Amino acid sequence: MKVLVTGACGFIGSHIAKRLVVEGHNVIAIDNLSSGDLDNVKDLQTNTLFKFINTNVIDSYHYDVDYVFNFACPASPIQYQLNPVSTVETNVLGTLNALRLAQKKGVTVLQASTSEVYGDPLVHPQSENYFGNVNPIGPRACYDEGKRVAETLCFDYFRQFGTKIKVVRIFNTYGPKMRFNDGRIVSNLIVQAIRGEPITIYGDGNQTRSFCYIDDLIDGLMAIFNSSNKNNGPYNIGNPEEVKIIDLANIILEITNSKSTITYSPLPIDDPKKRQPDITRIKSEYSWFPTISLTNGIIKTIEDFSNRMLHNV
Ligand code: UDP
Repeated sequence: MKVLVTGACGFIGSHIAKRLVVEGHNVIAIDNLSSGDLDNVKDLQTNTLFKFINTNVIDSYHYDVDYVFNFACPASPIQYQLNPVSTVETNVLGTLNALRLAQKKGVTVLQASTSEVYGDPLVHPQSENYFGNVNPIGPRACYDEGKRVAETLCFDYFRQFGTKIKVVRIFNTYGPKMRFNDGRIVSNLIVQAIRGEPITIYGDGNQTRSFCYIDDLIDGLMAIFNSSNKNNGPYNIGNPEEVKIIDLANIILEITNSKSTITYSPLPIDDPKKRQPDITRIKSEYSWFPTISLTNGIIKTIEDFSNRMLHNV
């Protein structure tokens, strides 16, 4: 197949592009490199199945493709709040452009949504039926509400035009190729622990997240891509293994054998207090569930970070 991947130089997008090429698909990779990095696809650049185009998804586009992975958007709170208006535009106009193309070509858009559509959830764990608890005017809203409108657009395109859509709500994901300065917890803590710098914990560290290793996530996305299942979702996709942020810090300190101390600073506004996916739906429809434990995934990620830090890449 000929597959368009938007955000193909980002963390998740680059892993999808790689898997698609490995499985013999042609990939048109678009990215404006605002938070993505060409280094993430450097091993694909010489492959004839892979074509990179530097462009912004908010500008209308047309490519002759059979499937669209719409993954363009900064995903780290620090990154997506740098230029919030652009984050809204990317989610709304970028998704509109992906849907217009899919509708014209009669192909599927697999939309990267997020656990952030649940905001600071009052229901735990979160199942797809929960409508969420999002502050529409807070600093996270550009991403949360942007992704919620993107979901609305997907389902309205489906209802109004019969466009083929698949919506996945991706929970916290980590692994090799995350940027050192990405700003998210796993990358921050690994870099700090390796360098022996203070470990930055926001709040008291009792807030929870559930972290999925990137290979598990890609397996889940490919299960959807390769299936003839016609359902739209949304599907929660993530690892239900819930952990307190302070416990994650201690796991990383132990594995890296680091002497870093822990410093505490205030919890950012609207930071969710807990998050855990209910993955019953994706498990029953696609027989997908994550297999890599947090400890094993963190060990692999630390190996990748140590290597890159050693070689300064
Ligand atoms: N966090 C932290 N220290 C950091 C980065 C993040 O304590 O250096 C906390 C953050 O406040 C949140 C959790 O870790 O409670 C996960 O944050 P992240 O930015 O990775 O993703 P989120 O799930 O909030 O989008």
